[in-house]
Amino acid sequence: MSLDLSLIIPVYNERDNLEKLLAELQSALQPTGWTHEIILVDDASTDGSTELLKTLQNRYPALRLLRLMRHSGQTPALAAGFDAARGEVIVTMDADLQNDPRDIPLLVNTLQSGYDVVSGWRKDRKDSWLRCFISRMANRILRRATEVDLHDFGCSLKAYRRSVLQGIVPYGEMHRILPAYLAALGSRISEKEVRHRPRLSGKSKYGFGRTLKVPFDILAVSFLLRYSRTPMRALGGLGLLGLTGAALITLYVTVRALFWGGIWVSPLLFVSTILALFGLQCIALGMFAEMLLWMQATDPKNRTYSAEELKHASN
Ligand code: UDP
Ligand code: MG
Repeated sequence: MSLDLSLIIPVYNERDNLEKLLAELQSALQPTGWTHEIILVDDASTDGSTELLKTLQNRYPALRLLRLMRHSGQTPALAAGFDAARGEVIVTMDADLQNDPRDIPLLVNTLQSGYDVVSGWRKDRKDSWLRCFISRMANRILRRATEVDLHDFGCSLKAYRRSVLQGIVPYGEMHRILPAYLAALGSRISEKEVRHRPRLSGKSKYGFGRTLKVPFDILAVSFLLRYSRTPMRALGGLGLLGLTGAALITLYVTVRALFWGGIWVSPLLFVSTILALFGLQCIALGMFAEMLLWMQATDPKNRTYSAEELKHASN
């Protein structure tokens, strides 16, 4: 059975937010008339959220509960929800009431006007100034690195057409950069301003440590988007650079020793040896990466494209 909309909401220790969340969702969704399901993915909560959700299930027939066997993180929780979803449109959001369910119709309607992904933009974000500042910097770099024009990659409130998510396996902390990844595969991306509220109950699951990891995430994304299909181009280029440097230095040392009476063994010899080893290692690594890619690409289960069949326009 297909539905109009699936809501996917990861939950980790959010007991005091859940009743209000479901009440708000119901009043936001009822007027739309869309057939829908609300999938709450319990990321192995330990604060009694699980028990409360079970009792709430009797009150809300649209509520579906998934429970991860062990605490796995926000992205795996979303991935579990994506796999279970039956809606044509998928909307993701947080359980902590920072996102406002009244924004859901806006995102879905924008999606229906001809997009594959609509990402929320918390223009007036209600988090600490330090988090807002770091996030603004990170977004600026991400815009450059991914060439996707979003102001707020980290906003959880996003709408997707289910078809573009098929075959995507989100891992790590990928939920933040999913739109950039989907854009690289050809999805049409849009952005809408959404409301944001301070967290009133429960604690944020991401401390300052998470902020320090942001630059590495950005580095990984820009590398993956550029070179994940052609690793030899990145690593081979570096390798050639190393080998060329080694060759030039060796040439210089040889000419110096033969014609100018210089010495053979000097610090330069070590530099050229290290450069040569570095170059060879890069090329070997590039070949290894290509081999892994080849094994994966020739497996018929893994498609290297995403396509959709266009329906006849109804007259
Ligand atoms: N979450 C989760 N597993 C985790 C971390 C977070 O399911 O390991 C959920 C959490 O319950 C919330 C959402 O993901 O619904 C976003 O988390 P949080 O509000 O702590 O993030 P922040 O808004 O502070 O970035
Ligand atoms: Mg939050």
